[in-house]
Amino acid sequence: MTDRILHRAADGGRITVAEALELYEHAPLEDLGAAADEVVQRAYGNEITYNVNAHLNPTNICVVGCGFCAFAVWTEQDPRAYAYSVDQLVDRAGQLLSHGITELHIVGGMTKEYDLPYYESLFSELKAEYPQVSLTALTAVEIDFIARISKVSHAEALERTRAAGHDTMPGGGAEVFSPRVRAIIADRKVPAETWLDVHREAHRQGLRTNATLLFGHFETPEEQIDHMRQLRELQDDTSGFQAFIPLPFLPGNTEFAYLPGPNREEKLRTIAVARLFLDNFPHIKGHWVMLGEEITAEALSYGLDDLSGTLTEERIAHATTVQTPLGLSQDRIRSLVEDGGKTAVERDTLYNRVEREPATA
Ligand code: SF4
Repeated sequence: MTDRILHRAADGGRITVAEALELYEHAPLEDLGAAADEVVQRAYGNEITYNVNAHLNPTNICVVGCGFCAFAVWTEQDPRAYAYSVDQLVDRAGQLLSHGITELHIVGGMTKEYDLPYYESLFSELKAEYPQVSLTALTAVEIDFIARISKVSHAEALERTRAAGHDTMPGGGAEVFSPRVRAIIADRKVPAETWLDVHREAHRQGLRTNATLLFGHFETPEEQIDHMRQLRELQDDTSGFQAFIPLPFLPGNTEFAYLPGPNREEKLRTIAVARLFLDNFPHIKGHWVMLGEEITAEALSYGLDDLSGTLTEERIAHATTVQTPLGLSQDRIRSLVEDGGKTAVERDTLYNRVEREPATA
């Protein structure tokens, strides 16, 4: 039974929710990986893309208070709280340019001072100083928050951030769409419908976005695949997603520190099923910070075709007890890709190839 489904999926045929579940639960792991790798090889050969980026997290103060989050604090009274001004972030971005970055990834906590005018000012000042750097910024949850506190629609919030220099949106905040799971891990976060509506509007305005799945905590395989189904349906309508990013849950320093987190097989199965089920997503991106370098290298043969950049100054996953380094050099990313038997190719935010002079490579 699984053989027939695997062959069809590896040939690029669409599989149903029930078939994806059958693969997740019963396909031999190596066969699942081989089918996912066949899809990747047909599209990209042996090439694995990555970009050179850095994170700016304006504040860690957040009123949403998700139980799975080790990054945020509730109030400015917390000794771990920080809040950067626009000027401080523009200065910091200038220092990060020495790493040869082509993209700034800007996400953070949600609190009333960080409203729509704040982000308009941040984006326009960053673009004025560093017009060559692309801004991947604001999850759908943040767009909804700044729209609400500034009393504008999602459409107007996006029109204004875009006018200020917003280039693409990351995929965070999706977590697991299941209301049952959201009630456990993120009960004050906006529901799936809002997340999907913001991305639909972003795509309508021509903004490319990504989508994530936080897996390996309370969700069932059915809920994982239903999450992917909702993403696949939106992508059928809009074609606005660039990458799907499966994020393994890291329990350290969270309310759910008693959970083990997903094991190797669960990580590889989720990645491979995503590659086979999401036939309309161009890329399945590996977030090496959360996957770990060893599993990332292995997963390059289980459906990944893209890596989440050098990630200088990544703070969100590093607020857990994750052991991956704070940013990988391009050399380390390239050797990680080679360890996985593939060839590393640098790209920009929109997946155009980047050629560098040897001195800046
Ligand atoms: S995951 Fe995002 S929304 Fe939730 S508490 Fe952390 S920063 Fe806030």
